[in-house]
Amino acid sequence: MNNTKRRLDNCKVCDKLISINANDCPHCGEPNPTAGKKGRDLKKDIKKQLIVIVILGVGGIAIYQYATTTLNNTISNLSFNKKSE
Ligand SMILES: [Zn+2]
Repeated sequence: MNNTKRRLDNCKVCDKLISINANDCPHCGEPNPTAGKKGRDLKKDIKKQLIVIVILGVGGIAIYQYATTTLNNTISNLSFNKKSE
C-alpha cells in the first residue's frame, strides 16, 4: 500500500500497533481491533465532560443561590434599619 494517510493504532486486545484501516488484527485476529477501542475512548471523554459540566452547573447554582440569599438579607437589613430610624 502506498497510502501516505495510513495511520497506526493499538489493537484493543493484544495492544500491538496495527493500521486503523485493518479489518482484523494481524496478530491476534480480533475483528475491528481499533473501532471498539475508539468508541470506548469517546464515551469516556463524553462522560468526563458531562461530569465537569454537572460540577460547574451545581457549583454555579450554589454560588448564585448563596449570592442571591446574601443580597436579599442585606437589602432586608438595610430596609429594616431605615424603618427603625
Ligand atoms: Zn490484536
